Amino acid sequence: MKSESLFERAQRVIPAGVNSPVRAFRAVGGVPLFFERASGAYLWDADRRRYIDYVGSWGPMVAGHSHPAVVEAVQEAASRALSFGAPTEAEVELAEMLCRLVPSLDQVRLVSSGTEATMTAIRLARGFTGRSVIVKFEGCYHGHADALLVKAGSGALTYGHPSSAGVPAETAAHTMVMDYNDSSGLKALFQEKAGQIAAVIVEPVAGNMNLVLPAPGFLEGLREQCTRSGAVLIFDEVMTGFRVALGGAQARYGIRPDLTTLGKVIGGGLPVGAVGGRRDIMQKIAPLGPVYQAGTLSGNPVAVAAGLATLKLVSQPGFQHRIESITQQLVTGLAAEARKAGVIFSAQSIGSMFGIYFRDAPPRSFAEVMQCDRERFNRFFHAMLDHGVYFAPSAYETGFVSAAHDRPEIETTLVAARDCFERLS
Ligand SMILES: *Cc1c(COP(=O)(O)O)cnc(C)c1O
Repeated sequence: MKSESLFERAQRVIPAGVNSPVRAFRAVGGVPLFFERASGAYLWDADRRRYIDYVGSWGPMVAGHSHPAVVEAVQEAASRALSFGAPTEAEVELAEMLCRLVPSLDQVRLVSSGTEATMTAIRLARGFTGRSVIVKFEGCYHGHADALLVKAGSGALTYGHPSSAGVPAETAAHTMVMDYNDSSGLKALFQEKAGQIAAVIVEPVAGNMNLVLPAPGFLEGLREQCTRSGAVLIFDEVMTGFRVALGGAQARYGIRPDLTTLGKVIGGGLPVGAVGGRRDIMQKIAPLGPVYQAGTLSGNPVAVAAGLATLKLVSQPGFQHRIESITQQLVTGLAAEARKAGVIFSAQSIGSMFGIYFRDAPPRSFAEVMQCDRERFNRFFHAMLDHGVYFAPSAYETGFVSAAHDRPEIETTLVAARDCFERLS
């Protein structure tokens, strides 16, 4: 197996052999696949085995892998320049498109990753409000900036502890961690700390603890508390942008955050992130205002070309509707196969994101996510992989469907799932 020998080589020069932890297959066990090629809904590994892909590079590949329009745009841009470190027309076009498609964006600044976007949004919120405390939710992931690698403290309404070594306790002490979908907890928090809170950052649909939908009233309550207290509401739509709806979760749920972070789809597979929102807040950023932010490769012409070409595809009429319907067919089919085999299982989707759970109903909180049967997921994951279907190698990740997935891929997946569920029961 070529993946095995590559993994051995990789581990000598790269910690754990991977450049991002989840890729190491630690959660599911076994050797991570090394990939060589991708097209449409399919991936080929280093041993030339083909898989139907439900990871989509963790979200960006919404148009399908190697879409000809995106590849052509990238080649064309690369043939002109790889980088200027100076303004280009294409980045203006991308910014205009983002402001047109995402309801709450007056202005936007481009960066190179989701992590950079959320880090900048936090700094901007603090600079704008002159306050220090930020609030996040357990199970939501916002990239790996220090202030956001924080877990809940020992009691309700206490400050957080670092969730990673290397994060100073003093940094984590400015972050409070609340329960997702807990509206009454939030109310209590704001009663006690309102004047100190700079920002609340949330995944409006949580996609980094498997998939958890916002409970009715949760996002509305957040909006209300932030407005009343002068805290900046940040929707982290790095994953949900152009996935949950064309205008993101904010369009789907009709809630206007003050700042929005974007990434993944807006680079179409190349590194692009963005932070945008209210004009009065965005004008605090350097060089207009006192909040510093910069990037050597920000707005890189090749990355921007991939993003623009992808956004042109996803904003075509019917794109979102079709991909949402295919995703629904997938989850309905999976749930039906599990039921026939007598396996305790549930599944749900929103837009082109889906969650599968070895649990009787979709979870509504981090605690409920933790109740899923992880051991069963791991067996299911490996069995599906043997059938040529690539789900995310962890029970706590969201699945992604692309526009290149169609009835044949869904049918093949469901036939494989039938066999795998039967083996589990
Ligand atoms: C992926 C993700 C990030 C981090 O983006 P990177 O490009 O990996 O730095 C931040 N927030 C959310 C919601 C994400 O899903």
